[in-house]
Amino acid sequence: MARKKDSAAKKVETKIFTVKKCPYCYMYMAVKDMQCKACGKRVGVVDSSGWARKVMDWQAYLGAIVAVVMFLAFYWWAFLAK
Ligand SMILES: [Zn+2]
Repeated sequence: MARKKDSAAKKVETKIFTVKKCPYCYMYMAVKDMQCKACGKRVGVVDSSGWARKVMDWQAYLGAIVAVVMFLAFYWWAFLAK
């Protein structure tokens, strides 16, 4: 009667990888590596297709946001402010 459904097994369908692929230079590296040995870029955990996830580069985003805000402030100061 109490037959186990295999939905629980499906849930844990995370494949076991031993290597992952660098999304920048397509080189293989160990799954536990957090930095690509070939190109030196930081990479994240392996995804379901064997690729390393790209790591969010907060510093670059922050720099871009700051640059845009400064440009808007300059634009406002130069053309709109009276
Ligand atoms: Zn790489």
